[in-house]
Amino acid sequence: MSARTPDPDIFLYDTLQGRKVRFVPSTPGRVGMYLCGPTVYSDAHLGHAKKEVAFDVIRRTLLHFGYQVRYVTNVTDVGHLQGDADEGEDKLQARARLERLEPMEVADKYFWSFVRDMDALNVLKPSINPRATGHIPEQIKLIEELIARGHAYEVNGSVYFDVRSWPEYGKLSGRKLDEQAEGTREAVREEKRDPRDFALWKRAEPGHLMRWDSPWGVGFPGWHIECSAMSLKYLGEGFDIHGGGLDLQFPHHEAEIAQAEAAGHAFARYWMHNNMLTIGGEKMSKSKGNFTTIADVLSQHDPMVVRFLLVSSHYRSVTEFSEEAFQSAQGGYRRLTEALHEVERRLPTAPERDDPALREKVAAHVQEFEQAMRDDFNTPRAVAALFGLTTDVNAALSGEVGRPALEAARDAYRQLGGNVLGLFAEGGTAGPDDREVVSALMDLVLEARQNYRLQKQYAEADRLRDTLTRVGVTVEDTKDGPRWRR
Ligand SMILES: [Zn+2]
Repeated sequence: MSARTPDPDIFLYDTLQGRKVRFVPSTPGRVGMYLCGPTVYSDAHLGHAKKEVAFDVIRRTLLHFGYQVRYVTNVTDVGHLQGDADEGEDKLQARARLERLEPMEVADKYFWSFVRDMDALNVLKPSINPRATGHIPEQIKLIEELIARGHAYEVNGSVYFDVRSWPEYGKLSGRKLDEQAEGTREAVREEKRDPRDFALWKRAEPGHLMRWDSPWGVGFPGWHIECSAMSLKYLGEGFDIHGGGLDLQFPHHEAEIAQAEAAGHAFARYWMHNNMLTIGGEKMSKSKGNFTTIADVLSQHDPMVVRFLLVSSHYRSVTEFSEEAFQSAQGGYRRLTEALHEVERRLPTAPERDDPALREKVAAHVQEFEQAMRDDFNTPRAVAALFGLTTDVNAALSGEVGRPALEAARDAYRQLGGNVLGLFAEGGTAGPDDREVVSALMDLVLEARQNYRLQKQYAEADRLRDTLTRVGVTVEDTKDGPRWRR
């Protein structure tokens, strides 16, 4: 299916136009996609998982439909201030103080933790993963362009975007006023010509660790400018899709558009936003105490079931995460994987006989699935098509099935459930048996390590432990013996 010609009938909901539109990339057959990535100052939570998986599925769907995709997602490692506005300590710097680390140590620590989470959730690696701190000159250049065109001004070493000079500001969200500006400190408010103006560059106060030289003195970039600068750098003028969480629509995405377009650049042609994830009906939030990190969830739950739960609701719908929802997802996921395993178990010894009735049913479910994904990436309908497929496959499996039909069923599961929805991670599906195998193997490895230690062969014992660490298994020695977790 990878060699197919690009499918011209994909429709997506464009937030900017406020409706579903046909997707036509600027270069035939190629798609440039940008997604606002994490601010790496703490472990990612389930809301991040929903966003990353949502756009990963969109990317995989475009690949499936024959497009080449350049997927760029950034790493925010400077400029995102506490309170998400124009003042307060840098989130990374605050964390660095708390953990007694360099800000860049904080960035790396949480970047790698994010990568581990995404690997576990089977999110494809980005084509380019630029960091804000690695693109200071590009940000400075864009700010200079804005000043030259009269859309930004410098005050006391800080530079602000002049919202009054750009009447289109607010066109994505329909909002113009940053409510957070209301609470802004007097000194910052006085610097701005208009309370809606937002920082492009901030003067570094004494003690501010992350600082760079600029034409306006020593400082650091505002939070929004990196995304305009890096998306244009790597995807070019008028790139195709810009994605992010609904919570970023204002002011972050509004600012991104204004910064790029006011500087004379054509910006993203389609804007896509995923809805939020709730726990117990409430939006995830640190202050409400329902802040669940991905790592926490994955230590107790099969990552593929978590992913299945996420794709079972549409990216523009709210996803409710609860133990109940997880249990139900687990049942559904098992139904799919058991059918796939049975199909693959029977394949090597299946008779050559054709079963056209089953083959046609499989083809019909493949069509339903693809039709659902063409319609704004409707994953719940696509999952329903996989269940329809499973019902027919299971009915056929009560008797003998010939190889051609089994192959068609296997390909449907592997290409749609596997490649498009990303539900079957590399190395085969995490079937019900795999966990027992892993558990038995881990008992063996830990026993070997204990034996090495008893014989004082510490180097060998450490080598085992290091290898486990490398594959994401942590071993802790407790008074009841060694314990491991992924
Ligand atoms: Zn962004």
